[in-house]
Amino acid sequence: MVVRKVVTVEARQLFRLDNEVLAFRFTATMSDRAGTAPRERLTNPGRLKLWLHAAGLGVPDVSPADLQDALDLREAIYRAGLAVAGTRRPDPDDAAILNRAAAAGQPRPALENGLAVRHLSEEAPVPDALGMLAADAIHILGGPDRNRITPCEGPGCAGLFLDTSRGANRRWCSMNTCGNRVKKARLADK
Ligand SMILES: [Zn+2]
Repeated sequence: MVVRKVVTVEARQLFRLDNEVLAFRFTATMSDRAGTAPRERLTNPGRLKLWLHAAGLGVPDVSPADLQDALDLREAIYRAGLAVAGTRRPDPDDAAILNRAAAAGQPRPALENGLAVRHLSEEAPVPDALGMLAADAIHILGGPDRNRITPCEGPGCAGLFLDTSRGANRRWCSMNTCGNRVKKARLADK
């Protein structure tokens, strides 16, 4: 099964899809993490299906158990990312969750007609999709750019991003959302 990216208007309204790192775009499905009321956007299996389609990991169906697995993986990625951002080692339990998910999924990337596509199996497309997310997280969290992982300074955000700016001085997960919010707040203060 070849899957391609399908970003619907609904997906754009529900999710923040602008993080360059796939694994961190996934952790952003829980937003306002540092605020008083974190916002869970994966509130039902249908929403996870919608998000996976928008991430180029479209699956035909998502069960409640799949959703729970996805949320467990997502939170392990977030905790591990926060640890790495603080120059600590991820908790072994979180690393184990990532490793298990990566080992369980067998997505097959392929170059077809000049474009990168992913094949998910017919038998277990959701574990394959989660395996892809886990593999991406492992690649980032343990790779050469891991010291560039940063939590957003936007008000209440704490979303993770990879700071690839030359001076390593990027402060917001996204200029369009958090960056703009801070700018507007500054203007209002003047
Ligand atoms: Zn942010």
